[in-house]
Amino acid sequence: MIMLAEQFREFYHSDERVADEKILQSQDAQVFFDVGDRILFARNTDGWLPGTIEKLNPKRCVVLAADGKRWTVSYMALQHVDESLMDERALRARRLADVAIRARQMMDRHGLRHWSLHFSHGERELGRCQFRDQAILISRNHAVSHAPECVEDTILHEIAHALAGHYAGHGPKWKAIALRVGAIPKSRPYEKNLVEGAARRHLESRDKFRRGDRVSFAFSGGQFVGDIVRMNPKCAKVDCGNRVFSVPYSLLEHRQDIRVLRKGTF
Ligand SMILES: [Zn+2]
Repeated sequence: MIMLAEQFREFYHSDERVADEKILQSQDAQVFFDVGDRILFARNTDGWLPGTIEKLNPKRCVVLAADGKRWTVSYMALQHVDESLMDERALRARRLADVAIRARQMMDRHGLRHWSLHFSHGERELGRCQFRDQAILISRNHAVSHAPECVEDTILHEIAHALAGHYAGHGPKWKAIALRVGAIPKSRPYEKNLVEGAARRHLESRDKFRRGDRVSFAFSGGQFVGDIVRMNPKCAKVDCGNRVFSVPYSLLEHRQDIRVLRKGTF
């Protein structure tokens, strides 16, 4: 069995600064997995149990075990059943490490040596400049799945924000700096990608449900439980007994008790 932790360490230590500054974090091991993957997950008492990945959350994923129970498991506690998938997914990890190295170099070159760099779980947001803690965040999904020149532009876009300051927004000062560092001086150059991504995610979340499924969702401060009575293209009709709601698929959760498997327990 190829241990994920070993595999991940290789990327983690691929560059001195990436390792020293802990740019890659354990949750970045998410790149090794997709929804629907058949995996083995570690449990302290039972060893490795088989399951299927249902949802990729920022730090852990939801795994449906063979006995129908759901667990949230840290990415480092997973192994692929199909080991050949590891090589394919390792390409993403390689890409993530490359983006980390490249972004670090670009930040240094533009005088942001003291700023830190991390990857975020953000799917709608390609990058973010956090002034308060002097950090640049790049979306992990963006880094591994979009064209390198798009990712590079996102890095430069955030560098321009860091240099222009919080109050510059996407105004003239930011635009001038963006041009100087080589970024496209537009606030959202990849709107199209974002829209396509949103459409794809929508289909993925719809696929997880069937008519008759018992689901829960949050609405107006309360938590509702009901059964899916109809699958419309954008929303499910959920019958909650005294009321029927139209709920976007992304807001639905399967109604089952989710038990938490903490990182330190295996
Ligand atoms: Zn911006």
